[in-house]
Amino acid sequence: MEPLAHYMLPVVFMLAFNPRTDRRTVLKYSPLAVLPDIDFFFGHAILHNIFAPALIGVVVYHVTKKNREALLLSLFFLYSHLILDLGFVALLYPAKANVISLDFNIYTSPGMARNMWGMITGETAMHESILKADNRIRAEPIEAAENAPMSPVFTQLSLMLILLALLTLAFKQFKGKHR
Ligand SMILES: [Zn+2]
Repeated sequence: MEPLAHYMLPVVFMLAFNPRTDRRTVLKYSPLAVLPDIDFFFGHAILHNIFAPALIGVVVYHVTKKNREALLLSLFFLYSHLILDLGFVALLYPAKANVISLDFNIYTSPGMARNMWGMITGETAMHESILKADNRIRAEPIEAAENAPMSPVFTQLSLMLILLALLTLAFKQFKGKHR
């Protein structure tokens, strides 16, 4: 996912769902949400796996003299990065030197509602299945991480998600002020 979405989404989610967490502490650890992308210069796998966030979390825990909140926020921001990169990420590196490429989509067609009405009334028979799945999970060689076909700068999905997240935050702010 793109850097702006990597940053904005977990920050807004954390602030909206955990109103009692100190805002300044959340912002202090928020850069960890984009940190994994610095491994772009070294093959895009060293920080994009399930092990790296745990290691970084341990470092943060010790540097902050065993601050539990610091540890939890670090883990939250680092793992949020993996979740948002889930379509193409070296999840098990270095235990498995593969990039996991995942596509998970279920479709239906706008004509389906019409067909269903036809089936209910007995006017039409069902000729095609109502849902179409286009799912794929594939292990690609680790070099694929480096040669990913395209890295988006910004996408429409992110725009929609960020707007929704901001709307959620605005709702929370407004509700808090007018109790
Ligand atoms: Zn990434």
